[in-house]
Amino acid sequence: MTAEKPTSQPVEEVWTVKRILDWTTDYLARQGSAAPRLDSEILLAHARQCQRIELYTQYESRLTDGERAIMRDLVQRRAKAEPVAYLVGFREFFSLAFEVTPDVLIPRPETEMLVVNVLERAKGQTGLNVLDLGTGSGCIAVSIAANHPNMNVVAVDISPRALDVARRNSERHGVDDRIQFLEGDLFEPLTSKRTFDFIVSNPPYVAEGDLGTLPEDVRLHEPHSALLAGGKGLDVLQRLIHQAPGFLNPSGWLLVEIASEQAQDVVSEFAATGFSGVECEKDLSGQIRCVRGRKT
Ligand code: GLN
Repeated sequence: MTAEKPTSQPVEEVWTVKRILDWTTDYLARQGSAAPRLDSEILLAHARQCQRIELYTQYESRLTDGERAIMRDLVQRRAKAEPVAYLVGFREFFSLAFEVTPDVLIPRPETEMLVVNVLERAKGQTGLNVLDLGTGSGCIAVSIAANHPNMNVVAVDISPRALDVARRNSERHGVDDRIQFLEGDLFEPLTSKRTFDFIVSNPPYVAEGDLGTLPEDVRLHEPHSALLAGGKGLDVLQRLIHQAPGFLNPSGWLLVEIASEQAQDVVSEFAATGFSGVECEKDLSGQIRCVRGRKT
């Protein structure tokens, strides 16, 4: 009798979309990612140059060798806590796609509150202007300009490399004709005669001692100059609040993002500087995130 043929051949590994998503999700979860499935989907969509939603109809589709190589590199970098937004070069904010690089803070959803606050107050009005201090990626400035028909914006940042990113984002969203970009520290590049209806800012506000408590992604990869502001995280906020009245029109608004534990100090600072109707607003997780007041 001849020997029986083996009934099963060694199965060649077939890397379908579904299989690689499942594998990557499991791997990134073990490496400490807070949202491993989402990370996997965004990275795979980037490697395949498709929309994330398209993956759901491509579950059985096989990856090309090129896509697998790109994905392997992205997953290794993600496992070392590189933020997904830097890996793919984009982050969505206020329903717009923003280019991001390690020169700018990655836009956070809670910062959309500042944009909503300005747009609500400017609705239906013409001839208004906004100053965005520490614009970073330009997400606040661009979202305001893109969602109001005629507001003009001045966007300031101390980092010329951040301004390059912000400028490209304004071009991408067709609002570069209404945003002026200036390099400098807070109000420094402005003449004191220039005044605004709104001053808005998401400044650095993390207390230096809290650096170690930030998630690895943030701590190891995002620009510390956009995060840290002295012992209580208030150094930049204090300077900004004190100088703001000199650059606001009568009844003009100052709106800033803060950490919730800074609310009392910041509200006192607003009041001591002569702002009226000072209010705090909580973000979706119930933390005070925005303080606003009006020049009297
Ligand atoms: N909310 C950000 C963080 O905790 C800090 C942003 C900022 O300092 N402007 O990572």
